[in-house]
Amino acid sequence: MSNKFLQLKIISHYIDGALVEPSSGVYLDNIDPSTGECYSKIPAGDSVDVDLAVDAAQRAFPQWSQTPAAERSRIMVRMADLIHEHQTALAEAECIDNGKPLSLARQMDIPRAEDNIRFFATAILHWSSEAHIMENRAINYTNRKPMGVVACISPWNLPLYLFTWKIAPALAAGNCVVAKPSEITPMTAFLFSKLCIQAGLPAGVLNIVHGLGSAAGEALVNHPRVKAVSFTGGTSTGARIAAAVAPTFRKLSLELGGKNPTIIFDDCDYEKMLRTTLRAAFANQGQICLCGSRILVHEKLYDRFVADFTAKVAAMKVGDPLLEHTRTGAVVSEQHMHKILSYIELAKEEGGAVVCGGKRIILSGRCAHGFFIEPTVIVGLGPECRTNQEEIFGPVVTIQSFSDENHALRLANNTHYGLAASVWTSDVNRAHRFAANLESGIVWVNTWLLRDLRTPFGGVKHSGVGREGGWEALRFFTEPQNVCIELD
Ligand code: NDP
Repeated sequence: MSNKFLQLKIISHYIDGALVEPSSGVYLDNIDPSTGECYSKIPAGDSVDVDLAVDAAQRAFPQWSQTPAAERSRIMVRMADLIHEHQTALAEAECIDNGKPLSLARQMDIPRAEDNIRFFATAILHWSSEAHIMENRAINYTNRKPMGVVACISPWNLPLYLFTWKIAPALAAGNCVVAKPSEITPMTAFLFSKLCIQAGLPAGVLNIVHGLGSAAGEALVNHPRVKAVSFTGGTSTGARIAAAVAPTFRKLSLELGGKNPTIIFDDCDYEKMLRTTLRAAFANQGQICLCGSRILVHEKLYDRFVADFTAKVAAMKVGDPLLEHTRTGAVVSEQHMHKILSYIELAKEEGGAVVCGGKRIILSGRCAHGFFIEPTVIVGLGPECRTNQEEIFGPVVTIQSFSDENHALRLANNTHYGLAASVWTSDVNRAHRFAANLESGIVWVNTWLLRDLRTPFGGVKHSGVGREGGWEALRFFTEPQNVCIELD
């Protein structure tokens, strides 16, 4: 083993309560996107590791599913407390792994990971099933049983946030989980596995297998003893997973991509709208599935908005994500950077005008080889072009104008996606009317990214199936059995 290998942080799988090496002995490079350098090694998990993890989960299931909800809750609350205790280290790890600003990891990702665990740990204490009484004839009750071994697969953009969002309801409902975080950002899930051990989570209840989607991910999805698959990621991966799962009729929840519209009417609170639309467009370098990447503005406001928005975007400073004052960091990988840049070139070919940004940024010092892109604004494109139809998932937005409410609605609904939308207006009737007609799983009115965890979360059309939030997530991870007792 070379000295360099020994200096790198080595990530382990978490299987059967222990941190273990990949059975193949093969590791992948984990790149820090802000420097372009390999800073850690990830197990290249494969079907052998997945088998071991499923075996462990299956062994743990009888006891975990019979553990009283109050005890499962107690252990999970301890897991949330440990995230809180270790929030500084977790935020730093997330920043290095993902390229996102440390400030964002601290304020959003890690607190939300803690909230996810705490929310489902306490929700399970208040969860109840239904009973239906048929007058004097019979009583029906629904026995919602945990399913067994379930798979949770999560993406790289909000690594610990989305990882915990998937595993927490599954564990709270009494299932045992085999989870696969994105191979691009595995570090916080690895640190979390150490916290699970510390919290006293019984061996095998949660297993984390690292590795490529095409190896560990596919092996997990295709595993015959996995009863349900909960996946968050890209729409094309989702389609592949749906095809794999369909022939065996297993439960599937898909949280997929978006091409979310921000719709701005001329009666909005302009300053608040401007601030929030900027955040909605570029938070996490535009790499949040809920980011507003298509801005639709009433024609009366169009010129003023383009000028003000562009000025604000031009003033955004892109920098070293580890620095306290940085608000815009690196995109997640070199490959992803080139994908985003290729979309900017495509936008130009399609006739768009880049009014701000559009290029890679080369920083100096530590980040000289990092993957940074200027926040980019494109105008002059029609609704049908690929730039306005395909998910770019980076710091790139387009602005289009509309003439009236119907026109705005046609533009807003004119994609295969239907994840989220933001509407800016001070006309409350219009807000309700417009929201109801949007083909979108989530609608924000005069705000963005605000949500009570009790509400259903998820998209329509190609943005996914199944809702993941509040009771829906607990329902998803249980098998309902209806029992009908006839009364004599
Ligand atoms: P991917 O679909 O590429 O990957 C998501 C996860 O699936 C990763 O862990 C990946 O592993 C794994 N995977 C890839 N191929 C397979 C396969 N054949 N079988 C099983 N698992 C597989 O998405 P990204 O990681 O690139 O994430 C970005 C996407 O996620 C965007 O489209 C974004 O909109 C969407 N997203 C949706 C959200 C929602 O709630 N609707 C929230 C956040 C993001 P590996 O990384 O190793 O390839």
